[in-house]
Amino acid sequence: MNRTDQWDDESRARDVADEFRRLFDGAPDGVWAAPGRVNLIGEHTDYNDGFALPMALPRSTLVAARLRTDGRLRLHSAQGDGRITDLDVTTLAPGAVTGWAAYPAGVVWALAEAGHPVSGADLHFDSTVPTGAGLSSSAALECAVAVAYDELHGLRLPGADLARIAQHAENAFVGVPCGIMDQMASVCSTAGSALHLDARSPERHGHVPFDLRGQDLRLLVIDTRVAHDLGDGAYAALRKGCERAAALLGLPALRDLSAGELPGALDALPTELAPLVRHVVTENARVVEAVSRLREGNAAALGPILTAGHASLRDDYRVSCPETDLAVAAALDAGALGARMTGGGFGGSVIALVRFGQEDVVGDHVTAAFAAAGHRPPHVLTATPSAGAHRVTAPLEGTRPALS
Ligand code: ADP
Ligand code: MG
Repeated sequence: MNRTDQWDDESRARDVADEFRRLFDGAPDGVWAAPGRVNLIGEHTDYNDGFALPMALPRSTLVAARLRTDGRLRLHSAQGDGRITDLDVTTLAPGAVTGWAAYPAGVVWALAEAGHPVSGADLHFDSTVPTGAGLSSSAALECAVAVAYDELHGLRLPGADLARIAQHAENAFVGVPCGIMDQMASVCSTAGSALHLDARSPERHGHVPFDLRGQDLRLLVIDTRVAHDLGDGAYAALRKGCERAAALLGLPALRDLSAGELPGALDALPTELAPLVRHVVTENARVVEAVSRLREGNAAALGPILTAGHASLRDDYRVSCPETDLAVAAALDAGALGARMTGGGFGGSVIALVRFGQEDVVGDHVTAAFAAAGHRPPHVLTATPSAGAHRVTAPLEGTRPALS
């Protein structure tokens, strides 16, 4: 992995357009980018109608796209199975597409489900977001399609609507019960800021300045390169547990439980649900506190908040694993201001907030700890808060291609 993480979107876009020409004959209508994300704080809160604070990574999925008038949807990815998947947009339905192509096909299906006219297209993808590392390559893939179609069909949908459509694709078409955070981060982030998300009303998100450089800080993203199979089933079970706890408490969602009401609620709940509720309520409070500290211009104060969030995920929500716990412990041991796992858990990535100049010390210490424990070396990168999904190439002159 590229430590400095400098990628030139425009030169990548030229390569992606060249590959499109080779695959599909003729130029694409344009090239769009949608980033992966890390979540600073607010984990497993989105499906509880709560708060989160993700930021876009300087890693993105590019799509070179051209609409078609014959209703065919042809999909190819540099990270796919080497083949062009050829589909008919009128027959798209949940379960009809398997493998990676379900993500982009699902977005086209979800746009149609939401009442938008959609035609076929030729789409070629190339991504710098590692897949399955908890950095939301799936949302980047979906959101690239969503923004390309939005522009090519002149839909001009608000970012939160595009995120909802992409989430619906992942939930209903691919069959992964994710919340809305990943897609919101990919579509709505802005460079230099974290995205303050209220999952109950995503359209009312805010941008909180996260000036790492100006405060002599850096954010390390440590991809542990482990993904435990447990993840998928456990996520759905945790989600159900939260819904059951909210129902027992007579609340629409756990977001509606205040910190003051928490002790009484914990006494009233079955022992297996109480720790889940404690995580969600304290995690929402950590997001609120993190936003306050950032707004005061004190990004270093995020450190202890991150570390407390990790303890809650490890001890109450129980979604960490030995590798993420080790990465967090080693980062703190080497002087990181704070560290936590990020993403759904059971592997994936860890973030560590470090002082400028400490990146290599912390990264090397984590790598040495992994070697000593017999794990594969982690991938470490330094991340800056980056832009959300956007067109990379200049807009087309002239008229929009006709709809089928
Ligand atoms: P994450 O979103 O954390 O990276 P997921 O399991 O949610 O992990 O999504 C990973 C899956 O998304 C991959 O297995 C693959 O099917 C699909 N995917 C993501 N990016 C690409 C890509 N550029 N090309 C093909 N498939 C991709
Ligand atoms: Mg994903």
